[in-house]
Amino acid sequence: MTTRGGAPQSPARIGGHGVLAADWHTHTDFSDGTDGLPDVVRAAGRAGLRTLCVTDHVRRGTRWLPEYTRAVREADRGAGPLRVVCGVEAKMLDTAGRLDLPGDLTGVQHVAVADHRFPLPGGPADPGDVRERLAHGLLTAEQALEALTDATVAALHAVPAGRTRHLAHLFSILPKAGLREEDVGARRLARIAEACRRTGAAVEANEKWCCPGPATLAALHGHGVRLIAGSDAHTAAAVGAWTYAATVLDPSGTASRQTCAQAPPGPAAPRGRRRR
Ligand SMILES: [Zn+2]
Ligand SMILES: [Zn+2]
Repeated sequence: MTTRGGAPQSPARIGGHGVLAADWHTHTDFSDGTDGLPDVVRAAGRAGLRTLCVTDHVRRGTRWLPEYTRAVREADRGAGPLRVVCGVEAKMLDTAGRLDLPGDLTGVQHVAVADHRFPLPGGPADPGDVRERLAHGLLTAEQALEALTDATVAALHAVPAGRTRHLAHLFSILPKAGLREEDVGARRLARIAEACRRTGAAVEANEKWCCPGPATLAALHGHGVRLIAGSDAHTAAAVGAWTYAATVLDPSGTASRQTCAQAPPGPAAPRGRRRR
């Protein structure tokens, strides 16, 4: 392993140089995180990060964006060498790519596109409902996977101009709906990869939910998609703390999902303790 400035280099390779020095998916108490923004920023500094993207959950009706963007901008100014990026996490709503975003995104620099509910042509469905429809033959697995792919591709293009973007915990919805990531298949992965390349979007290795799996990340990397790391931290202590991301982004490592949460994330229900 080579060194840079005396420090061990990140083991990540398919994630690119220094990928683990940036956490692109974190939450504060503006949405459902436990700790306040100053604590999260301090934790990022302690973890040795160079970039912290705060991605609190928003919905169309979210009212605290002006206060949030101002607070993140001020945090960035006071964070020394650490760059603090103002992001939001928004769920895909349907196969047309609509996102659950407020109309005015002034000050928002980055959008994390999330599969919190299953995006179907008619709108978002609970994964349990999709599972029922699959069981009763009202929907086929092929149709469901195609819908999720259509939605993901369209949503990447639907992010309002001027913002960088990435796919958060890609395919986390599949096991909840009784579907398998392996069944997404090469053709659909290639479509998602093409949309990422065209929109400059990255795909995150999600530390909290250990998704997408190593094979999916390797395939996306093979298609030229930039891979990044996201802790999905809901506490300051979890910011920039890598196990899954470190192993999965390093092809010489042994990727393991053992340390991760047992279930994929459920529908996002922003339940801010303060400043809703
Ligand atoms: Zn999420
Ligand atoms: Zn999140």
